[in-house]
Amino acid sequence: MFVEQLQALCRQPSVSAQNLGLYETAELVGKFLKETGFIVEMFSPSKGPPIVFAELPSRIGTRTLVFYNHYDVQPVEPLELWKNPPFSATVDDGKVYARGASDNKGNIISRLMSISAFLKATGTVPCNLKWVIEGEEEIGSPHFSEFITRYKERLTGDSAIWEFGGLDYEDRPLVTLGLKGMLYVEFRVQTALKDSHSARAAVVENPAWRLVRMLDTITDEDGRIMVEGWYDDVRPFTQEELEAIRAMPLEEHSIRDELGVKNFLFGLTGFEFKKAFYGNPTANIAGIWSGYTGPGHKTVLPSVAQAKMDFRLVPNQDPVKLAGKLRQHLVRHEFADVEVNLQAENPAARTPIDARIAKIAARAGREVFRKEPVTLVTSAASGPMHYFTNTLGLPTVAIGCNHAKSNTHAPNENQRIDVFVKGSKWIARVIEEFAKPPT
Ligand SMILES: [Zn+2]
Repeated sequence: MFVEQLQALCRQPSVSAQNLGLYETAELVGKFLKETGFIVEMFSPSKGPPIVFAELPSRIGTRTLVFYNHYDVQPVEPLELWKNPPFSATVDDGKVYARGASDNKGNIISRLMSISAFLKATGTVPCNLKWVIEGEEEIGSPHFSEFITRYKERLTGDSAIWEFGGLDYEDRPLVTLGLKGMLYVEFRVQTALKDSHSARAAVVENPAWRLVRMLDTITDEDGRIMVEGWYDDVRPFTQEELEAIRAMPLEEHSIRDELGVKNFLFGLTGFEFKKAFYGNPTANIAGIWSGYTGPGHKTVLPSVAQAKMDFRLVPNQDPVKLAGKLRQHLVRHEFADVEVNLQAENPAARTPIDARIAKIAARAGREVFRKEPVTLVTSAASGPMHYFTNTLGLPTVAIGCNHAKSNTHAPNENQRIDVFVKGSKWIARVIEEFAKPPT
């Protein structure tokens, strides 16, 4: 029955990047929650699709657990690489194939399944549950801060469970305790009113040269970010976090094979590789363009050059403060003419390794999957978890029903049905243990 419910949710397209089916999906999610027993409210931000907020008070427990999920999905293109149509939710080989099957609709229905089981068996849930399901996670949650500001008082709780999580390549349960932050910036340099004949390059400044010279001041040859004060607030890993990182399985080989790279930056390997991967702030050029890039040659002197950069941040780095430092850096290096447009700014999130919910999640994972769980001090990726850890002060863990070959964001995304069921048991055990008073 729950597989059918997952199929029904997957058959409803909800591509936030293309504004496709979001309102209908919010309605459907709201309906499922209501049918389960939740009190459901729809929050409509000033722009963008509704955010579903639901509550289920417990008749026996006083503690409160908050869930965060999203009902939107990534675009399906390229369509020709899908074995089955992306919204058909075809069951094949023990898996449901669909865009959103694992990211994030599988997790929504799997959680719903564990909650229904409690209600069926005992008529209530062991602790109070609050659930936030937004529809713009895949495009950077542009209206989520509006929701948090409005609902802050109502989102009080003791801990939170994040949207994703599941098993690694060896089917070991993963407990992820944090995400990196993000400062996304677009740079633009204009040196003339319009493009012109490149014969004028002898006397008119080329914006692409100016842009690359500016970019070159941002990092040094050792990859260190040279913006003055960039590392001032970085909180280094604690001793306990370093121990956990040492125990984390190495992703080195899988990344090397997948990308076909011979060596990593600066010869990083082993423990140093892991420390850099999870702990270093980054300054990545995501795109750079100017002038003519088509086939053949065109001798043009461009008037504009642009670049996009994503800076990943670690705990205690403040993106707003860093954006200011970046602007000061440009002035100091005589690049005040370079325009800076901020596109996203999210701080990092990190739950302490000794948080009760982290221990409960690991213990329950071991019990359900009969394998030693892996605690990831942080993911190297980013997301809006900081609203929960920093703004609401909720210790937050990411656990769920994904598996390592879910193909999230890629063609043939799928949800393994066995992990869907076991992931739901995992969540149920966590709810049960979490509801007990802390000792
Ligand atoms: Zn995603």
